[in-house]
Amino acid sequence: MSERFDGKVVIITGAGSGLGQAAALELAKEGAKLSLVDLNDASLEVTKKLILEIAPKSDVLLVTADVSDEEAVKNYVDQTVSKYGRIDAFYNNAGIEGKQAPMAEYDSKVFNKVTDININGVFYGMKYILPIMKEQGSGAVVNVASVGGIRAVLNQSAYVASKHAVAGLTKTAAIEYGQYGISINAIAPGVILTAMVEGSFRQIGGENWEEAMADFVSVNPKKRFGKPEEVGRLVAFLLSGESEFINGAVIPIDGGQSSQY
Ligand code: NAD
Repeated sequence: MSERFDGKVVIITGAGSGLGQAAALELAKEGAKLSLVDLNDASLEVTKKLILEIAPKSDVLLVTADVSDEEAVKNYVDQTVSKYGRIDAFYNNAGIEGKQAPMAEYDSKVFNKVTDININGVFYGMKYILPIMKEQGSGAVVNVASVGGIRAVLNQSAYVASKHAVAGLTKTAAIEYGQYGISINAIAPGVILTAMVEGSFRQIGGENWEEAMADFVSVNPKKRFGKPEEVGRLVAFLLSGESEFINGAVIPIDGGQSSQY
């Protein structure tokens, strides 16, 4: 049986953990040829091992790169094209949360690091991949914003500013490149249980971080956290070509929490 991603080349950043790893597994099951990018090479090896357990015939390229380094981004794009000859889809996912503090106490160095990775990393990725998709006349991009890209979140000024910027970059790229057969969208996950989120609750709750998690989830309309594989399935749909007319959207996946007053 043919799969949605048979023969398709997909780049995923932040593929060593959480949402990036879950999407890599989902897309490998569906036949994608993967180019996996992360700062952490050991975690990339873990993702590759998991992929080969479920889809032993998968093509997997691993590239260690810091997405906030423009040369490193150009390099992961070049390596992907030299191995596979094209890029059909791009999951522009790598990002960090930073420290939590009220704005006046927010460390400027941390602010700059968060915006450097979360904004510049997303921008550089599209800057080098969109020309290739334009020449092909096809492609799909999913950028990772957050509920923090459409709403305020207490004590997370850098993260919220960066994720609003991701939403803005997404809409701008979508109206510039839609005419070339490229669809560009962002997802806005609520709280999905990953290493980043556990770190966040450890910051909020200290020793009582598990209680902080339970409090948070009690106000979600679904009364639970999201799962990385649920986000992976949304990303697969948006990258598959089945959703070609969805362009410039910022799509929440949060159990309805951001709709609630
Ligand atoms: P995670 O920490 O589990 O995974 C992030 C991965 O990105 C890690 O493997 C890390 O090594 C990599 N990474 C970090 N900085 C990098 C850099 N400069 N260059 C290359 N790779 C880098 O986090 P996650 O929860 O999977 O988050 C993935 C994305 O989803 C992030 O953009 C995050 O802001 C966003 N997001 C997550 C949630 C959530 O609830 N988990 C909610 C909204 C948005």
